[in-house]
Amino acid sequence: MTFVATSIAEVRAAVDDWRGQKDIIGLVPTMGALHAGHGALIDAARRECQRVVVSVFVNPTQFNQRQDFDLYPRALSSDIEFCQQRGADLVFAPSVSAMYPHAMRAFVEVERLTDHLCGKFRPGHFRGVTTVVAKLFHIVEPHRAYFGRKDAQQRAVIRRMVADLHFPVEIEGIETVREPDGLALSSRNQRLGPQERSVAPALYRALCRAAEMIRSGVSDPEGIRRAAIAGLTRLPEFRIEYFEIVDPEDLQPMAEVKTPALVAAAAWLGQTRLIDNVLVLTPRPGL
Ligand code: AMP
Repeated sequence: MTFVATSIAEVRAAVDDWRGQKDIIGLVPTMGALHAGHGALIDAARRECQRVVVSVFVNPTQFNQRQDFDLYPRALSSDIEFCQQRGADLVFAPSVSAMYPHAMRAFVEVERLTDHLCGKFRPGHFRGVTTVVAKLFHIVEPHRAYFGRKDAQQRAVIRRMVADLHFPVEIEGIETVREPDGLALSSRNQRLGPQERSVAPALYRALCRAAEMIRSGVSDPEGIRRAAIAGLTRLPEFRIEYFEIVDPEDLQPMAEVKTPALVAAAAWLGQTRLIDNVLVLTPRPGL
């Protein structure tokens, strides 16, 4: 039975009870319009924790464009059903006024790790993310929290927040779930037109091409970048926002590429912004 809570008090009452029973609590923070990518996070939490909380909250403070916030898909009743089917114990779906009852004067900000990739193009985005995730951690007090590797920068930034501010929570990372043609599942994919959808997997192909070059020992970031994005730049539908090779921990660009390396990209297809990344852990054996 999945309980749906809209107030912070209801969540606190439930988790206090579970903590009293010494249950391990897992939190899966989401913005809803749930798909199999979110499902993989909920399934991992279900396997590893006695209690699973899924938060569904389209957080206005992490959107740097009002239109993107307004257009973000919302599907609460099917999300609740989705969580029920996957055996979540609690869905926390607060209103904006429940999460932000008055003007905010306190924020959480992670420096340096937010200077590149999405941080460079979405001013204020990560401050919105870290602040809302810190709130959720204080409300739910989970032992573990589950994040997708699709949002690699988000996960690295949250890991750093947790480490630097001593949050007593383990941050887990779940592999990106993809469509059969390679496109990473995203709530935003619903907004792609048929032509955009048909070319969308080219983003992942470009990342894989870069990863392959890194694995084979190519170390010049500009050379890798140019070769990798050649396929994308030929497609008129795509507008590349960034395509960078960075250190996976501090997210700084590498002057000379060595493993481990994170290749991450964002690109616009019409009105829809897609992000994706590939982590290259080791060179090809024999190199
Ligand atoms: P969102 O609702 O897009 O904010 O995502 C909520 C969580 O689900 C984040 O930790 C995402 O990284 C994760 N997530 C989103 N899409 C995927 C995917 N395709 N595979 C794995 N995790 C995902």
